[in-house]
Amino acid sequence: MPRSFALRRPTRTELAVAAMALLLGVLGVLQYRWVGQLSADERERLRSHADTQAENLTDDFNRELTRAFFWLQFGPELRRDAPLEAEVDRYARWYSAAPRPELVKTIYRLTEPTTASGGWVVERFSRDPARLEAVSWPAELAPIRVELEKARETSRSGAQPARVLPTFASIPALLIPRIEQLQDRGDGRIVSAAPLNGYTVAVLDRGYLEKDLLPQLVERHFRLSQDPSLYVGIYGPGIAFSAPGGQVPAALRTAPDVTDGDMFEIRFFEFRRFVTDRRLEPPAGSTAVAATTAPAGPGVRVGPTPPGQNTVIVAREGRGNVVFRGRGGPGGPGGPPGRDGVPRWTVHVLHRAGSLDIAVSHARLRNLLVSFGVLVLLGASMGLVLVTTGRARRLAAQQIEFVAGVSHELRTPLAVIRSAAENLADGVVADPKQVKRYGDVIAGEGRRLTQMVEQIMEFAGFESGRATLDVRPADLGGIIEEALRGADPLVREHHATIERRGTTELPAVLVDPSAVSRSLQNLIVNALKYGGAPPAVVIDARRADGARREVSVTISDNGSGIAPRDLPHIFEPFYRGGDATARQIHGSGLGLSLVKRIVDEMGGRITVRTEAGKGSAFTLHLPLAPEGALAGGPAERPADAAGLGDPRVPA
Ligand code: ADP
Repeated sequence: MPRSFALRRPTRTELAVAAMALLLGVLGVLQYRWVGQLSADERERLRSHADTQAENLTDDFNRELTRAFFWLQFGPELRRDAPLEAEVDRYARWYSAAPRPELVKTIYRLTEPTTASGGWVVERFSRDPARLEAVSWPAELAPIRVELEKARETSRSGAQPARVLPTFASIPALLIPRIEQLQDRGDGRIVSAAPLNGYTVAVLDRGYLEKDLLPQLVERHFRLSQDPSLYVGIYGPGIAFSAPGGQVPAALRTAPDVTDGDMFEIRFFEFRRFVTDRRLEPPAGSTAVAATTAPAGPGVRVGPTPPGQNTVIVAREGRGNVVFRGRGGPGGPGGPPGRDGVPRWTVHVLHRAGSLDIAVSHARLRNLLVSFGVLVLLGASMGLVLVTTGRARRLAAQQIEFVAGVSHELRTPLAVIRSAAENLADGVVADPKQVKRYGDVIAGEGRRLTQMVEQIMEFAGFESGRATLDVRPADLGGIIEEALRGADPLVREHHATIERRGTTELPAVLVDPSAVSRSLQNLIVNALKYGGAPPAVVIDARRADGARREVSVTISDNGSGIAPRDLPHIFEPFYRGGDATARQIHGSGLGLSLVKRIVDEMGGRITVRTEAGKGSAFTLHLPLAPEGALAGGPAERPADAAGLGDPRVPA
């Protein structure tokens, strides 16, 4: 049945599938863009979330420092009618009342020399009982000492008011200017406090910071125990902390996704948060929170300040020793990191995937794979619909052709048989020779009819799944002989020659003997039908070389070969070669498809070689039976197996 490649109008199904395929393509593009957009948004969201977390962590940490700063400078409360607490009491109060007293490991009180040649008085606070003990400069305060002496130098030269930093992250410590008695100015609303010539130093407990405070704050803001998708590090002078514990990648330090460098900063504008000032009732709308400096005056004024200049604490402008100067704005007096040269700590955040970008691109890839997977699946199902409908249409056409072909095939032998029989019955033929010829014709046509009906029934049996094979060790030589016997009448009819080659002593094979015999017969009949004139058929059976455990039986003919366009289809049911239909050679197109099914089912295979003008060779490769499987009993032959002879094999 030659295939037609002529252009035809597409069916409705094909048009619908094409439209759906187009839609799928558009969906794919939209999906790709959408996933890209989602990823960009997700990256932004993750980054800003991590930013906020880092910022909140920094704020909380700085708040703890700020509390310590103000509590040790003023105490938690300033009262209208009472002077500042004595410093020793204030220090003791920190340990008895502060929410995190462990934060401060040691408190020192420093007093500036009164004379140019005098030395600093350094005292250490001791808790039980609360008192100050004079000590010599401790080594841990060396950086502070250097700063203070530099500042003294600068202010003595009288040029610029020297500035002393409030934080020393590398120690880590806070340097807090000491305040003298506040003075009541009549109505009790305006109070001034004179700065003392000295400082309180709070040395922070690094162990507590690293083991308690920082882990607590990191957990509070990043919740690593519940969502371990991030690494958090805190780096800077005197600190290298990372969470979660254990090994963290070097990129956390060198190439983090997010950083916040404001850690270790005193938030002066939060004075009110930590110190309750009962002396002040600032006018409504004022943003004043603490004390301002009278630029040239000899003291500190505590009172309302104009908006925008929200704080400042202590100064001694008269003597040229400005300690802290505040500016308005959200950064407070400290300002952004680096601008004032204060060394700070930095919070680093890194995504576990290696970076936020990698994590997002992984997620993007996953999303793309899933969504494209769905689209591909849809596309594949559409393709499958096309293929199946195409196949169904082809099969339907083949079956119609088959029915027509078979009817034709049946009609011819039936007509021949009927007319021969009528002639015989009418006594038209009386000559014994002629009677024999008529008999031969009737037998031949009958054989063809039987073979065709057999093939159709076998095909139907396979299609319905009812046909089963009885596979057992069998003697191949016997099977071949049986097949030859079955084909003998046709051989004679075609005046063909059959030659047997190969080994006579063949090993036993593991097959269904009668099915293999029918298959061989099919191949022999084909070799006769499509062979030369007269047909010369060669049957060659031999054991396969090498490691393959099989026997091959090749049936070759001297026909004109199989056309290349037919070759891929000859094993399909109902397929008939162009040559076969053109030459009106009888057949149903089922023979080879049955042979292939049978050998496949027995674990063998069929191969074909063909050469134009020279002929074709079909080879059955049959599996060997286990060694000695036939030794015990008589060799199994198809005729034996089928009792008196297989009725399906034309005799
Ligand atoms: P049928 O012989 O009834 O047409 P088959 O299934 O046996 O059906 O063969 C299918 C087709 O394969 C044939 O129509 C023919 O074109 C081709 N064919 C089979 N055997 C041979 C052969 N020995 N030489 C050439 N063509 C063959």
